[in-house]
Amino acid sequence: MFKILHEDKSTSARIGLLKTKSGTIETPFFMPVATKASVKLIDSDHLKNTGTKAVISNALVLSLYPGLETTKKFKGLHKFMNFDGIIATDSGGFQIIREGFNPKIDNFGLHFKNPYTGKKELLTPEKAIKIQNELGSDIMMCLDDMLLPGSSEERVAQGVKRTYEWAKICYKSNKNKNQLLFGITQGGVDKELRKKSISLMTSIDFDGFSIGGLAIGEHKKDMFDIVKISCSLLPKDKPRYLMGVGSPQDLLKAISLGIDMFDSVYPTRTARRNSLLTKKGPIKILRSIYREDTSPIEKGCNCYVCQNYSKAYLHHLARSKELSSMMLNSIHNITFIQNLIEEAKQHIKEGTFDKFEKEFISDYKINKE
Ligand SMILES: [Zn+2]
Repeated sequence: MFKILHEDKSTSARIGLLKTKSGTIETPFFMPVATKASVKLIDSDHLKNTGTKAVISNALVLSLYPGLETTKKFKGLHKFMNFDGIIATDSGGFQIIREGFNPKIDNFGLHFKNPYTGKKELLTPEKAIKIQNELGSDIMMCLDDMLLPGSSEERVAQGVKRTYEWAKICYKSNKNKNQLLFGITQGGVDKELRKKSISLMTSIDFDGFSIGGLAIGEHKKDMFDIVKISCSLLPKDKPRYLMGVGSPQDLLKAISLGIDMFDSVYPTRTARRNSLLTKKGPIKILRSIYREDTSPIEKGCNCYVCQNYSKAYLHHLARSKELSSMMLNSIHNITFIQNLIEEAKQHIKEGTFDKFEKEFISDYKINKE
């Protein structure tokens, strides 16, 4: 199911092949976020042209609306959203915690109020897998007890234990072995608890392991310390997925530590804020210096936007608050991230990844504008 093809000599970066029921994908890879079966502002056709081969949706959110009766009519999520690439699904716990569902969490699962019906609902580990089985995603996530930064050590320890107990139930509940199932490690930025979580979770024969509970506001150094420890302890022959990471610098750093999979709203969210990614750092397209700039966002970028439009036009659309502005910005930013990963893979294969990462980081100026 997962095969390592190449290991970098000077870093822990690696190239692998992950086989799913919707096709095989080379790792590392990046998944734009399609929480509600749509990458914001981008249809499946444009998405493919950005070089995107996999997306991640949210199982719980889709089960609440449109509901599984609807997706069943399409035999799952792929046909419903007309995307024949790889679809991963998160169980939904993250969304409940982050988006004001105000859940109550106990050993049974997450109790919350359904925002569409007002009814009380309970998301159990069994139910999280049942929903994902019905959606027919290629890569499923266990339900985890994810905590926000600032939680007490005691609560983080409880989260580690509960995530493990739920993981065992999730593993047993899976009715379709063709769908890959990943366990999620927790433990916040506490090194000992993180090690414990990894040791517990790797005792179950999951198809891959996610590193959860990071990239939610903790210090970068703490995050990468945990990523490093995780990569040294997680099994080498299983894919490692760092959830929620997607800025260019963070992606390269995490790849160098041995991460194989990513997802993040970073490229689309920055695009909606008129920030366009270039190898020299993000540019703010609203700035008046672009008003008469006839050049593309980045020379050499093969994206649909850079092939067809100038900075002057994009500046105009952004200033005029035209909706197409955010769409075009998103297409460029996703393509930029996908191209960066492709370039990183090429350098891993050629043994020049270390040099490439250093040069990229030194050229990439975040505060340029
Ligand atoms: Zn472009």
